[in-house]
Amino acid sequence: MQPRRILLVEDERPIAENIVYALKAEHFAVKWVSKGGDAVRALQEEGADFIILDINLPDMSGFDVCREIRKHSDKPILFLSARQDEIDRVVGLEIGGDDYLMKPFSLRELVARIRVILKRSENKSAEAPKSKSKTPFEIDEKRNRISYFGEKLELSRYEYFILCTLVGRPGWVFSRDQLIDHSMGQVSAPFDRTIDAHIKGIRAKLRKINPDIDAIETQRGFGYALKENW
Ligand code: CA
Repeated sequence: MQPRRILLVEDERPIAENIVYALKAEHFAVKWVSKGGDAVRALQEEGADFIILDINLPDMSGFDVCREIRKHSDKPILFLSARQDEIDRVVGLEIGGDDYLMKPFSLRELVARIRVILKRSENKSAEAPKSKSKTPFEIDEKRNRISYFGEKLELSRYEYFILCTLVGRPGWVFSRDQLIDHSMGQVSAPFDRTIDAHIKGIRAKLRKINPDIDAIETQRGFGYALKENW
């Protein structure tokens, strides 16, 4: 099996060296850059399976790097943050991060989290069921876009993955936990209500395009399903 390739974006050399050492010991291939701009370039030129992204970088913030990366890539991103108060966790996850760790962290924990997230993201792409029944949705996985009756939806990252999950299996009832699993990767404890809020947002966007159709059905006590028969 090819080693998984990790892009490490970290400007503090001692931290970076420790991480590189630990990851190589675990048979990951690691590329280390210390600036955000270099990270975006390296990712475009060489790709990576996973990105470890420090928030405080000399040239741009890790959040901006993440936004830049998310225009082209949905590879998992784990943020590193120096202080508890420095990171707005919600911002980090909303803009497309998958997880974050506070410094100082144990290298063992870092490796464990990387493995969990990689496994989830790889299972997700392997499982990603193609829609069999005909629906008015079209998913453009390369660009992380979904169109509905031919109109492009403006979705947040979470909304995108939630809708992808639902569209993948029309009629299939997903519990909130399943939607969190499928859509958010290794994110610790978003609340049920978060899913409800995302669904609400998606519904509003769908209704704007076609107000007559209730595309996402609520199954009380269970969760949500995409309308099966179109
Ligand atoms: Ca830093």
